[in-house]
Amino acid sequence: MSSTIPKAPAWSRSDAVTLRLRNSSGAIGGFYADWYPRDNKRGGAWMDAFITGGPAPGGFRPHLGLICGNLTPPVGGRPALLTHREVETIFHEFGHLLHHLLSRVEVRSLAGTNVAWDFVELPSQIMENWCWERAALDLFARHWETGAAVPEELFQKMKRARTFRAANAQMRQLGFGFIDLLLHTRYAPERDGDAVAYSRRLLEEFSPAPLPAAHAMIAAFTHLFGNPVGYGAGYYSYKWAEVLDADAFTRFRDNGIFSRTIGEEFRGRILSRGDSEDPAELYRGFMGREPDPQALLERSGLA
Ligand SMILES: [Zn+2]
Repeated sequence: MSSTIPKAPAWSRSDAVTLRLRNSSGAIGGFYADWYPRDNKRGGAWMDAFITGGPAPGGFRPHLGLICGNLTPPVGGRPALLTHREVETIFHEFGHLLHHLLSRVEVRSLAGTNVAWDFVELPSQIMENWCWERAALDLFARHWETGAAVPEELFQKMKRARTFRAANAQMRQLGFGFIDLLLHTRYAPERDGDAVAYSRRLLEEFSPAPLPAAHAMIAAFTHLFGNPVGYGAGYYSYKWAEVLDADAFTRFRDNGIFSRTIGEEFRGRILSRGDSEDPAELYRGFMGREPDPQALLERSGLA
C-alpha cells in the first residue's frame, strides 16, 4: 500500500508528491511522483533510482526512487484529465519503480532495474496490461463529473483501435530489429556493398509495399549505435520485451488479474531479484517454461 509522507521534502514544484510503499512488516521504500510539465523540465516520462537500499541489521534499508512525466496537468479548475495513453505511462513507470523499490539484492550494482537491456522493460510493460482490463479500469477510470465508468461501447472501440494495423506495426519493428542485428553481426562491406542499399533490400522484405529507390531510413536510425544506457544491436529488445510481458501476463489473465498469490510470485521471482541471476533463469522460474510469443500474437489480434 502507499500513503503520503507528510513532511518529506519534494523539490521546487508543489505538485510533485512524495509517497511511501510499505507492507505489514514496515517501509519498503519511498518515491517522488512528479507528473506535470514545467518550463525547465525534460520531455517524456521516466523512472530513476535515488537511493538503493541494502541489508541492514534486522532488515533491509528502504529504497528511494522517482517517477516523472509530462502528463496533462489540471487546468481551468478541472482536475488532470488524462488520456488512456497517459494512464499507461503511469502504470509503465510505476512498474520500473516497483522493480527498484522491491529489490532485495544485496549488491547495489546488481539491484533493481540494473538488468540486461532486453529484460528491463518486462516489469514496466507488464503493468500496462492492467490498463486494458475492465475490472482494473473500473477501480479508478471514472467520468470526472458524473462518476460513471468507461462506457462499454467506448472500451470496445479502444480495444479495436489498439490492434489497428498491428501486423504492419509488428513487421516494421521486426524489420528494424532484424537490420540492427544484421548490420552488427553479418554485414561485410566487401561482400554486401553499400550499407544503405543493403539495408533497403532487407527492410523491403518487411514492408507491405516496395520501398522507393531513395529510401535511406537507416542513415537516420540512431538506435544502431550504443548510448550511455543501452548498447548497439539492442533494437530487438523492444519487441522481445513485448513477448515477455504479454506472455508473463497470461498467468494473471488466466488466474485473476488481482491474484495475490501470482503477484507475490512475480515479486519473489522477478521484481525482487534484479540482476542477481540470469534473466532467462528468473523468467523460467516465474513461468515454469521458456517465453512463448503466442500471447503477444493474440494480444495484437494476429492469432
Ligand atoms: Zn520503460
